Amino acid sequence: MTALVLLEIENGAVRQASRSAVAAAGAFGTVDVLVLGHGAEAAARLPGVTRVLHAEALSDALAEPAAALLADIASGYTHIIGAATATGKNILPRLAGLLDVQPIPDVIAINDADTFIRPIYAGNALATVRSSDSIKVITIRGANFDPVASEGGAATVEAVAFNAASQVNAAELLSVNLSTSERPELESARVVISGGKGLKDAENFKLLEPIADKLGAAIGASRAAVDSGFAPNEMQVGQTGKIVAPELYIAVGLSGAIQHLAGMKDSRVIVAINLDPEAPIFRVADYGLVADLFTVLPELESAL
Ligand SMILES: Cc1cc2nc3c(=O)[nH]c(=O)nc-3n(C[C@H](O)[C@H](O)[C@H](O)COP(=O)(O)OP(=O)(O)OC[C@H]3O[C@@H](n4cnc5c(N)ncnc54)[C@H](O)[C@@H]3O)c2cc1C
Repeated sequence: MTALVLLEIENGAVRQASRSAVAAAGAFGTVDVLVLGHGAEAAARLPGVTRVLHAEALSDALAEPAAALLADIASGYTHIIGAATATGKNILPRLAGLLDVQPIPDVIAINDADTFIRPIYAGNALATVRSSDSIKVITIRGANFDPVASEGGAATVEAVAFNAASQVNAAELLSVNLSTSERPELESARVVISGGKGLKDAENFKLLEPIADKLGAAIGASRAAVDSGFAPNEMQVGQTGKIVAPELYIAVGLSGAIQHLAGMKDSRVIVAINLDPEAPIFRVADYGLVADLFTVLPELESAL
């Protein structure tokens, strides 16, 4: 069996979620990776990778040609794997459509080459699914697989030609604007502090920043906080946002709606600060503080 992993490269480095996908792919035997655009050198240094296929002319920002290229080269593989990120969710279901196979998204555990565990009903149940497709197209949740290291491997790099480009020209990549932050990536941060509607406005949402700085934490938000304009969309944690599983998750002024819990309940230690003792977040919290966040946050900051 040979698996092919669709890698995502950011600022010249392989994203942690992709390194988790490489680790997951190791369960299937030989691992090749595909790099679209720049970053083949970083990919070649990943431990456990045999071959890097490099399509320099393409970008993972355009799903149609990326999926068409994967479909071109898929026949050599038993498993095609990506991280369950925006990029993976954009490209791999299209590939599954082109191959006429059933995509298997959000895998959190691999039982064997055909059998996978994935959450359903917003994480309220775990389904064990068996696929009889000859090529399995899978996205994995990065938080559930320890990533391979960034260095230590010595894979060969081969350029791949892309014949389908002329047939897939529905979209054109004009530019990529990456947001830059000194803080760790939300999906791979060791500590996350998230704010909700209880913070009342965008100005108050900034109360989370000095605490995040002191803890080396990423900042997350509930959907209500995002929808109210307190925080940008990329900070949303939950069923329709990012899935996180840090060592420490601090939930501030958010109720813990089921769709939010779907994105963070696998965190190792959960701390909740909420005025309402009945708030559902306390059902998953390891430490709960029934208190006014406007009193607690300054105290927490000075204590840290
Ligand atoms: C299909 C679908 C998908 C969704 N996806 C997501 C998702 O991905 N992520 C997500 O988060 N939500 C998602 N939602 C929305 C979700 O249902 C909730 O509406 C949302 O999570 C509520 O956000 P909140 O907890 O910030 O706000 P609220 O529910 O309004 O809670 C605010 C909390 O702040 C507390 N509070 C108020 N003042 C203070 C204070 N001074 N001190 C301390 N505590 C205070 C209150 O007691 C309350 O518990 C989704 C909904 C649907 C239908």
